[in-house]
Amino acid sequence: MNCTQVDLKGFSLNELELDGRQIVEEHLQVCPNCREELERLSVTRTALASLREEEPPRRIAFVSDKVLEPSIWRRFWDSAPRLGFASAAMLSVALLVNGFVRPQPAAAPAPMDSATVQEKIEAVVAGRVAEAVQKAVADSEARSARRTADLLAATEQRLDRQHRADLLTVEDNFRVLQKRVNIYYRASNDLGSAQ
Ligand SMILES: [Zn+2]
Repeated sequence: MNCTQVDLKGFSLNELELDGRQIVEEHLQVCPNCREELERLSVTRTALASLREEEPPRRIAFVSDKVLEPSIWRRFWDSAPRLGFASAAMLSVALLVNGFVRPQPAAAPAPMDSATVQEKIEAVVAGRVAEAVQKAVADSEARSARRTADLLAATEQRLDRQHRADLLTVEDNFRVLQKRVNIYYRASNDLGSAQ
């Protein structure tokens, strides 16, 4: 099993069946690259989830924008094709960038140097990712509490049905046994009276 055969995206989106999940989990144990990739995926996913409500970008900033230093965008760009949702990742980048490169008031052009811009972007990204992760954790806890309650209810129903089925079986067996006893009883009576 090599990295290209492993469905990290499906795994990250919790879309895999048990078999598929196990395959990915086994691969993750031995492959630090995929572990890192998975982490990046989940960060991107939570960031995207938190950005869904944002206003549409007024201006799309691309990786080639001069104002941006390559490192952070390079990372997005390089990982995007492997993530399988390049356009979504780029859109999230664009949304974040949008906050910083909105048209500046003409009176105060004051261009920021790229290091400051990147610092600010990273601070915002970190803040939003932390927020998104917190929210994702809370959501997932609520979901799993609901799932547990559903599971419990289903199990109780199943046990109840099973219990009733068991009782019926016992009753059936008892009736069969009683019939047999009656037959033996009658047979021995018949034998007794015949003598
Ligand atoms: Zn791998």
